[in-house]
Amino acid sequence: MQDYDVIIIGSGVGGSVTARRLAENGARVLILERGEVVPREPENWSVDTVFFQKKYKAKDSWLDRNDKPFDPGMYYNVGGSTKFYGAALFRLRERDFEALEHHGGVSPAWPMRYADLAPYYDQAEAMFRVHGDDAGDRTAPQRSRPFPFSAVPSEPVVARMAERFRSQGISPSALPNGVNAGAAGTCILCRTCDGFPCKIGQKNDAETCALEPALLTGRVDLKTKTLARRLILSPDGKRIEAVEVDEGGEIKRYAAPLFIVACNAVNSAALLLRSADSAAPKGVANSSDVVGRHYMVHNQTALMGLSHRVNSTRFQKTLAINDWYFGDDAFPWPMGHMQMLGKLQGGMLTANVPCLPKFLGNEMARHGMDWIALSEDLPDPNNRVTLAGKSIKLSVTLNNMQGHLELVKRMKRALRRAGYPIVVTKSLVAHATAHQCGTVRMGDDPATSALDPYCRTWDHHNLFVIDASFFPASAAVNPALTIAAQALRAADHILANDLAVSP
Ligand SMILES: Cc1cc2nc3c(=O)[nH]c(=O)nc-3n(C[C@H](O)[C@H](O)[C@H](O)COP(=O)(O)OP(=O)(O)OC[C@H]3O[C@@H](n4cnc5c(N)ncnc54)[C@H](O)[C@@H]3O)c2cc1C
Ligand code: SF4
Repeated sequence: MQDYDVIIIGSGVGGSVTARRLAENGARVLILERGEVVPREPENWSVDTVFFQKKYKAKDSWLDRNDKPFDPGMYYNVGGSTKFYGAALFRLRERDFEALEHHGGVSPAWPMRYADLAPYYDQAEAMFRVHGDDAGDRTAPQRSRPFPFSAVPSEPVVARMAERFRSQGISPSALPNGVNAGAAGTCILCRTCDGFPCKIGQKNDAETCALEPALLTGRVDLKTKTLARRLILSPDGKRIEAVEVDEGGEIKRYAAPLFIVACNAVNSAALLLRSADSAAPKGVANSSDVVGRHYMVHNQTALMGLSHRVNSTRFQKTLAINDWYFGDDAFPWPMGHMQMLGKLQGGMLTANVPCLPKFLGNEMARHGMDWIALSEDLPDPNNRVTLAGKSIKLSVTLNNMQGHLELVKRMKRALRRAGYPIVVTKSLVAHATAHQCGTVRMGDDPATSALDPYCRTWDHHNLFVIDASFFPASAAVNPALTIAAQALRAADHILANDLAVSP
């Protein structure tokens, strides 16, 4: 295949979902991906390989705001970060789409409402085969159909903890999850899911759910080990003419009528900035000067509730708590979301806290109940991606922490009352990049946003950015399902307006 309608850069959730929708409706698509396919091999489920040797992590180094190098913990491979994600597939809540007052400032409105995205959430849940049940979730958004699959049941120790929360008046609910458990497939509900690739291909990620079906259409070509270096503008700066790539050491150009950047929030912004030329001196799509700004990543703290009882749970990511999402009587501002982590193992603790003795790490993991608190961070223009020579610089100052600290306080109290007298916490904010978003924000106004509400750049009619970059506000639940839903919405817009195909 040589003539393409669309070139997509990046094969993660934004890129692959868009590719599938376009290709299934007749478009010819070329996907350029800097990484390779993650092999299915025994090491996929080895704590040593994944957390100590970091075999699958990118060997990347960025600079922080003080120009200090750090390992950003990125994954550059087919399927993007979703090969390693926890597959917690939440919808944002209705009020997340509206301007919302937080303790630390105002979270801006999206250029769409929940109702605009709801049909695409339905489709994204079907594509990622989400298992869920929002009974008990007091903030659950309206839905027009049930989850595609019933929720993965909590194992006995987790179910007992949920009962103890209920007796305190707290309302835990099932965590919507994209693993092929029960009738859906052959998932064995193992301990090595969150943070690991699935050895048996049963995690519903961007590769298995979007890219593989896209390739089956016969209208998609995938080039791996192909790094997009810069976008080439037409002389008048109005269109993208080509993308220059490094394909296994060879510099080449690819051209098509339409381009979609989907490299995840930091790398998409970096690609646009790196593509600056005389027609776009501040960078491609950046006449508003917002590209790279408003970086968000969630305020995050891990909590481990410890008791004398052994936690025998294998698949632990089954419970969420949203009781404090929008605040309570004592703190009437949003606090955020609680969800269980995949079962931590001793080696995972010592890999992250090297001073922790191994035997202690193992004992804590044997007894611990593992949670994570996620709260909204606000889009600050000074929290930003810039280029420092060939490096990426990520300057971040935390904000809106009060709501997050209140959430952690409430969760610690709830865990103690539920029979976990010791609660250990670890702030994950320093250099965490998993939930990166917001760096090429969408909006209604070209003066304050880079993308229109369908992810088309205001500056270049044939360029879209469809990945975590588009978020105008981070909300407080995991981003992947929202990226997938908006990718389907943007793809339908492209089919109708740019390719003249009715989806
Ligand atoms: C460990 C971990 C756990 C997570 N758990 C969850 C979870 O449970 N639920 C959830 O909703 N989210 C989770 N996330 C976040 C989620 O995976 C991301 O939000 C999502 O994958 C982002 O989608 P994306 O399309 O923006 O980027 P990605 O999925 O990361 O894809 C970007 C792709 O672009 C490629 N690329 C980058 N630069 C270039 C370039 N210059 N040229 C060519 N290719 C390029 C990359 O190799 C990658 O394949 C998790 C993330 C991590 C790291
Ligand atoms: S829990 Fe299921 S989907 Fe996740 S890694 Fe294990 S087998 Fe794969």
